[in-house]
Amino acid sequence: MRCMRYSYFAYYTKPKLSKRLEEKGRLAERRAEMALKYTGKKIWRGKTKELYFKDFTLVGRADFVSDNEVIEVKTRLSSAFLVPNMAQLNLYMLMEGKDNGVLLSGDGKFLKLERSEFLIRQSLKYFETLAEHITSFDIPEGDRTFCRNCHFRRFCVD
Ligand code: SF4
Repeated sequence: MRCMRYSYFAYYTKPKLSKRLEEKGRLAERRAEMALKYTGKKIWRGKTKELYFKDFTLVGRADFVSDNEVIEVKTRLSSAFLVPNMAQLNLYMLMEGKDNGVLLSGDGKFLKLERSEFLIRQSLKYFETLAEHITSFDIPEGDRTFCRNCHFRRFCVD
């Protein structure tokens, strides 16, 4: 999962991507959409879905969905973000009721995944703990693995 302190800060103030990163993301999505259409597979854009739990609600929207899988596009498949990306994709599979998913990067690389109940349980545990931190105004521990390009690093000090 990604740094919980990041998610805590992001709950209060939505991180704004730089114009350059926004453009890279849009370009990756356009490329991915063209590549997917080229395969002849029927795909459509995901719709925003909500999952309700006792102490929190998960809201998400998969990039693309087909009859049997969820496709999530990333500008690149970075090893540092692989587990958070896999966890996110699994939550989208849960939301869409699909057993298969694909992480697809703008440069055409892809990773096919089967739905993992373990990763889903871990993700839900993560959000449950995050909700506890938010409701008790308790800033969680940071995970330094993700600091390099973090939007909050300027004011995140220990
Ligand atoms: S700077 Fe590092 S520890 Fe702080 S929120 Fe960002 S990723 Fe987490």
